Amino acid sequence: MTALIETKNLRKEFVLDGGGRLEAIAGASIAVNDKEFVCLLGPSGCGKSTWLRIVAGLESATKGEVLYKGAPVTGPGKERGMVFQEYSLLPWRTVADNVSLGPEFAGMEAKSRREIAMDYLARVGLEKFADAKPHELSGGMRQRAAIARALANNPEVLLMDEPFGALDAHTRVLLQRELLRIWEQDRKTVVFVTHSVDEALYLADRIVVMTAHPGRVLEEIDVPFERPRSRATKGYGEMAERILELLEQNEK
Ligand code: ADP
Ligand code: MG
Repeated sequence: MTALIETKNLRKEFVLDGGGRLEAIAGASIAVNDKEFVCLLGPSGCGKSTWLRIVAGLESATKGEVLYKGAPVTGPGKERGMVFQEYSLLPWRTVADNVSLGPEFAGMEAKSRREIAMDYLARVGLEKFADAKPHELSGGMRQRAAIARALANNPEVLLMDEPFGALDAHTRVLLQRELLRIWEQDRKTVVFVTHSVDEALYLADRIVVMTAHPGRVLEEIDVPFERPRSRATKGYGEMAERILELLEQNEK
């Protein structure tokens, strides 16, 4: 079976302003299968965002292969939707007009765009805020809107870069649950970047653990727990502990 996304021996070097080079990813081979929920877990600076941006086609690899359905990635595409950590909504547009940005670029007429926006806003529980401006929303609501906007393009895969990283602990847990609910309805492929062991263990089918800078794959872990998951499930805490140790040993 061909993986939906595959990077083979992916290397990325940045050329720094001073002329030096910085190796961000030192040969990452990662495959993501169709409909899978994969978390990319690793310490800050290990190249997670870089890997995701390369897969999104926003950045190019220095070496190695980057494949989507077996074909080389040459740039961004509608089938790969991104959700960032920072609130990336356009502040001068209403929430609904932010969500329907993709359909608008695609040339869809206003009435259909509004229908699509309302449909996706309903899925994330924000229909009442369709005509609000982003600054009127809480951080959690803005991230819900950002997810609705990515979904409104009907992507095959959601590439999520620490989307809940700036939220308070309670909102974060709520949004994790909500994301899984949406994922279970739609069954998109999701690649979710995080540096939180707890978040990865709660969300993922499979966790790809990366080494500290420069990034490589340290280990891949299949998460055996059924959903909806409880942090109190037998074996859950032990697994979290094992992953934490893995990360700590690697940083020594
Ligand atoms: P992570 O998302 O895991 O925290 P990043 O992918 O953002 O890590 O960064 C990996 C490494 O590459 C870091 O050392 C970072 O400073 C460096 N880096 C990222 N983007 C650039 C860039 N545009 N120019 C130079 N260095 C960069
Ligand atoms: Mg990052």
